[in-house]
Amino acid sequence: MRGTDRQCRCPLSQVELSSRYTSVLLVAKQLSKEYASPNGALRILSNINLTLETDAAISIMGPSGSGKSTLLYILGGLEAPTSGTVSFSGRDISQVRDDDLATFRRESIGFVFQDHCLLPQCTVLENVLVPTLVGKADPEFPTRARRLLDAVGLGPRLNHRPGELSGGEKQRCAIARALIHKPGLLLCDEPTGNLDRTTAAGVADLLFEVQKEMILIVVTHSAELGGRFAERYEMDNQTLIPL
Ligand code: ADP
Repeated sequence: MRGTDRQCRCPLSQVELSSRYTSVLLVAKQLSKEYASPNGALRILSNINLTLETDAAISIMGPSGSGKSTLLYILGGLEAPTSGTVSFSGRDISQVRDDDLATFRRESIGFVFQDHCLLPQCTVLENVLVPTLVGKADPEFPTRARRLLDAVGLGPRLNHRPGELSGGEKQRCAIARALIHKPGLLLCDEPTGNLDRTTAAGVADLLFEVQKEMILIVVTHSAELGGRFAERYEMDNQTLIPL
């Protein structure tokens, strides 16, 4: 077997995983999203309401093009809604200035994408440290990065480049990177979309394992991944339906 998906991993301690927040509250109210198109406004999302608290873990399923990623990006402050609000622990993120929003996103939200988005020229360790290059320096970051990588099974791969990793290992590295700032919200967009079934199951196990004192939202078209969550939603006709 190529890679380390089954290699021994050091257990992650509660302390390393704990988010920077003792409690988190994510509230989306009356969200809608439209894109301009030559034929008029293209409505993607309508009337979306969602309230999640610390330790909530949800999946959002639905076919390709149904608006799952758009919703995830709005919840993470990467996209602005056309109307409605998103508040994170009482702070309306649609009202936050661009500079502050970038800092807030970097420090409070972890993102994991289908395409891991690792920098190919950087080592595994450097990739996990990339989010720490901007903002306040903390001498603890390199130690934390090493320990996170150890815990996701990449301890022996610190100096490898992404091109030398399997798909599952790349996603493990992306998960470690998402956790470097101890986020209160972990947003995953098709995190297992490029992986075979066994590797996908291992990455999903890891997501559940690392989710401590934070909110986890996974969007996926995979019924297998989505079905593992006790709280599930489906995008249907532009809105979010609890299953
Ligand atoms: P999903 O994640 O469910 O596959 P998306 O949220 O990526 O769906 O996309 C929903 C719809 O919004 C698609 O029809 C897509 O083409 C459209 N869309 C996404 N981003 C833009 C954009 N920047 N401009 C115009 N249309 C967009």
